[in-house]
Parts: sequence; structure tokens; C-alpha cells
Amino acid sequence: MSDHYDVIIVGSGAGGGTLAHRLAPSGKRVLVLERGDWLPREVQNWDAESVFVDNRYVSEDTWYDGDGHAFQPQIHYFVGGATKFYGAALYRLRERDFGELKHHGGISPAWPIGYDVMEPYYTAAEQLYQVHGARGEDPTDPPASAPYPFPPVSHEPRIQQLFDDMAAVGLHPFHSPSGVMLDERQPENSLCIRCATCDGFPCLVHAKADAEVVAMRPALQHDNVTLVRNARVRRLETDESGRTVSAVVADVGGAEQRFSADVVVLSAGAVNSAAILLASANDRHPRGLANGSDQVGRNFVYHNSRAFLAVSAEKNDTRFQKTLGLNDYYFGDADFDYPMGNLQMVGKSSAPMYRGEKPIEAGLAPMFALSDVAEHAVDFWLSVEDLPDPSNRVTLNGDGDVVLSYQQNNQEPMEQLYHRVKKHLSRLGMHPHHLVPRQIYMKTDIPVAGCAHQAGTVRFGHDAATSVLDVDCKAHEVDNLYVVDTSFFPSIGAVNPALTAMANALRVGDHLLARLG
Ligand SMILES: Cc1cc2nc3c(=O)[nH]c(=O)nc-3n(C[C@H](O)[C@H](O)[C@H](O)COP(=O)(O)OP(=O)(O)OC[C@H]3O[C@@H](n4cnc5c(N)ncnc54)[C@H](O)[C@@H]3O)c2cc1C
Ligand code: SF4
Repeated sequence: MSDHYDVIIVGSGAGGGTLAHRLAPSGKRVLVLERGDWLPREVQNWDAESVFVDNRYVSEDTWYDGDGHAFQPQIHYFVGGATKFYGAALYRLRERDFGELKHHGGISPAWPIGYDVMEPYYTAAEQLYQVHGARGEDPTDPPASAPYPFPPVSHEPRIQQLFDDMAAVGLHPFHSPSGVMLDERQPENSLCIRCATCDGFPCLVHAKADAEVVAMRPALQHDNVTLVRNARVRRLETDESGRTVSAVVADVGGAEQRFSADVVVLSAGAVNSAAILLASANDRHPRGLANGSDQVGRNFVYHNSRAFLAVSAEKNDTRFQKTLGLNDYYFGDADFDYPMGNLQMVGKSSAPMYRGEKPIEAGLAPMFALSDVAEHAVDFWLSVEDLPDPSNRVTLNGDGDVVLSYQQNNQEPMEQLYHRVKKHLSRLGMHPHHLVPRQIYMKTDIPVAGCAHQAGTVRFGHDAATSVLDVDCKAHEVDNLYVVDTSFFPSIGAVNPALTAMANALRVGDHLLARLG
């Protein structure tokens, strides 16, 4: 055993990095084991060809779908995890997302805690991640105990026009809550330079509030926090009783090393945390660690998403486009009495990003050259809740590789939402017949490879028969094991998940500080 810590955290992304930051000032000995390295700072960070065509930063993992087809998941292993690439749209779940919701395709189950429990942690997470936003514009906004710490990121002219046009037809667009460190009042001092390569790209100048920049680096200023990079955790071992994790076994630079701690927290991402638990089966836990309920790996969700571009009648020279959101249809409307979802902008597209995206080539070329498409494109993202289904799950095959089985569900609300947006677009200065679907963030025919919003595989709940974790995110069956990545979500709502993982990590952090005394 090389060393003993108070807490070991596996993974340094939204959940793990935030937890490390919360525990750091306590003086407790914290070890973070991170599979990846620092993301290199290099010109390719902001090069669309390198990021989107060459997949420079995508892991070389091979996973398999339920039919055994191999695919390369769009997953990134670096200090800071997926937040290094995220669009930093930092939404709270809506208050009603915490209760049971009846969807067209079935039930979105209630969380074991209400929004009121999460609210102070959302506020703290917004402060830590420097969220810019405007409360009160979005009618579905949940109550908040504090204003956003920073004013909203302004719209550039074409998006302001869209905002005004939407408002003119009676919609309620809002400024998207955003974790970019943009100071528009003092641009000369602003870390963020408002570039066109943010959503899906790493930030070369470290001005995106990601888990490396705002959580891990400050945490490492404390001598009691240690980060071991290139440390891939393979499995957890328990003592004889099976109630205590006694060792964390990792490949560190190719050699097996074992670590131990009073408390072990998994935060390797929803797929990898489930995979580690399944790989940790032993005599006491024959189906996988903490898996007496047979729930580990089940109920994988990742949003029903649809990205598309609209060709604007006038040029769209926006650089930072992710400033507008729309939730008017989030919970349905008079003609569709079920939740639909969220509309937001994605990063401004550019011609290299379209390379290999067949829908664009087939849909618009040769009518428009790809560079013309890029000049006029306004890029949208629709997000609808996919519902937990026990057969949508992570398992391991005979070689220990991840198998991700997934059947789509709750598709009708996406059609309804898309139909409504399309109907509006001709009145919003777009060509309604030139909406083209995009395979944003991915170049593969296997949709589940685009697992950016993965969640739900190790859900928390009151009942040990139907959940893996208790309300403190501690495993029901193991006394010193916690999970704080997005796998604890019993349902995902329709807004982006990162802020909820961050807020929950702060909540669990408070619990751990009380536990460790
Ligand atoms: C392109 C892109 C855009 C996105 N945009 C947004 C957005 O705008 N808003 C939003 O809310 N969300 C967004 N997301 C999703 C968001 O980034 C994730 O929901 C969030 O980061 C999940 O946090 P996590 O802690 O569960 O996992 P991660 O942040 O992925 O962290 C997991 C960490 O575990 C490490 N790890 C994995 N396996 C092991 C192992 N075996 N041993 C040790 N370490 C391991 C990984 O390297 C990683 O650092 C986006 C994601 C992507 C990819
Ligand atoms: S928009 Fe700002 S935060 Fe985003 S990548 Fe550019 S400089 Fe970084």
C-alpha cells in the first residue's frame, strides 16, 4: 500500500474537481486520481480542423453497442474532464424536474431530494463557476437565493436580432447562463476574449470556468491535496466484510499501484464509474461492487438532442453564439400536454466542422458552398429528456470493455419541439426550408457515441432495492464509498447537466466534511 489518505477522488471533472475544491481548505489529505493528463495548451486548442475533424483530444477508447458494434466514444480524458470541452452553459434543473413528471413516452421519476435542498448549492456552484446570467427572463427559472454573480453575456447583433424577433412573436428568450470569464465592462482586463472556438473546444487562454481552471488548480494550491495524473483506476477492493473499500487499484503510467483512504469517491463519469463498480465484483459483491440491487449501470440517459443549422437571410458573423436560450416549451403547451424541452444556441459553426457531415453536404451543397453556409448559419441545439430505462445500460464484455446498450425513447416531444421552432423560423429571418440536421461533436453513425451528457447509471434514492446510492450519494451497501459524477441522477431533465453535478459535489462535500470531523 503506497499511502493512506482521508479521501480519494477518482476523476477530476465537474463532480470530482468540484469536490476536491470543496475539501481542499479543510486540511484533510485528499488524493485525486485522474486518468488523463493536463490538456496541452497549444494552437490546436482553437483549431476546428484539429478538434472536430482530426479528433485530436478524443480518447482512443473502444466501446461496444448492444449489438456488439465497436465505436469510439466522444469522450475526453484530461484534468477537468468533459468540462475542458463544454459549452459552459450552466443551467439549474427546473424545480419541477425534481418531482415526478409525466412525459409522452413515460415517467421521469422524482429525485429523493427536492429543489430546496439543492438551491444553496446551485448558488454556491454558480459563484465558483462564475456564471453570467440574468434571472427573471426565463419563466421556467426556479427560485434562487442570490442573483447570478456576473451580468449576462451580451448578444452579438445577429443573435440580438433573433432575441428581439422571438420576443416580438410572444416567446420568452433569455440570456443563457454562461461560465465564461468575460468582462465586457473592462474588455482590456477580460480573461475571455469572446472567440468563436469555445463550445466543443478547450480554452487556450484558460478563460472558461472549467473544472481544471476554477476547481483543480486552486485546490492544488493546498499542500494537503495531491493529484496523480495518468492514473487509470481499474477496480476497487473491499475488506472481508465487503462493507469497506480497502484499496483503489490503478494503472499509473503503465504500472499497477494501490491506494487507500477512509473515504473513496468515484467521479469518473457516468459510464466509467459504473464500469469501475462492475469491474470490482468480488465474493461479497458478485454482481459488481454496491450492486445488490442490480441497478449499477442501468438507466443510462444522455438527452434526446438535435443540432441543426438554419440559413439566415442575412449574414451571421457572430463569434460567441451561445448566449440565447428558450424554455417556452419546456413543460409543454396548449397543444401538447407533455414536457418538450430546451432550445439553445451552440457554438458558431465554421466550414471545417461540416466536413464529413453528410446531411449538410446532401442538404445544402451544391446550392451553397460550405463557406457560404458557414457565413449564414445560425446554429441551434434542442434538448429533450430521455427517460430512464433499466435496459439502457452499461455492462462489461468478456474482455472487460464497456458495452453501452441504448434504445431511444420519448422521441415525440423532440418532433413537437422541432416543429414549433421550424414554424417560427420563417418569421425570424431564416429560410424555413433550409434547416439542416448536424452531427455536432461527433463523426460516427452510432448516436450513443455522442455521450457528452451521459448520466444516470448509479442513481441515488431512498430505497436500496431500486437505487445504488443513498441521499448523501454514499453506496447503500458500502460504508465508505461515494459517487459524485452525473451517474447519481435519477432523471436528467432537459437542460445541460454540469451545474447540477457541481452543485451536488458541493452538497456531498459538506456531508463528507461533517463525517470526517
Ligand atoms: C463537447 C461538450 C460540450 C458540453 N457542453 C456542456 C454545457 O454547455 N453545459 C453543461 O452543463 N454540460 C455540458 N457538457 C457536459 C458536461 O461537460 C458533463 O455533464 C460534465 O463534465 C460531467 O461531469 P462528470 O464529473 O460526471 O464527468 P467528467 O467531467 O467527464 O469527469 C470525469 C473524469 O474522470 C476521469 N476518468 C474517467 N475514467 C477514469 C478512471 N478509470 N480512472 C481515473 N479517472 C478517470 C476523466 O478523465 C475525467 O476527468 C458538455 C460535454 C461535452 C463533451
Ligand atoms: S469564448 Fe472566452 S472562454 Fe470561450 S474559448 Fe474563447 S476566450 Fe475561452
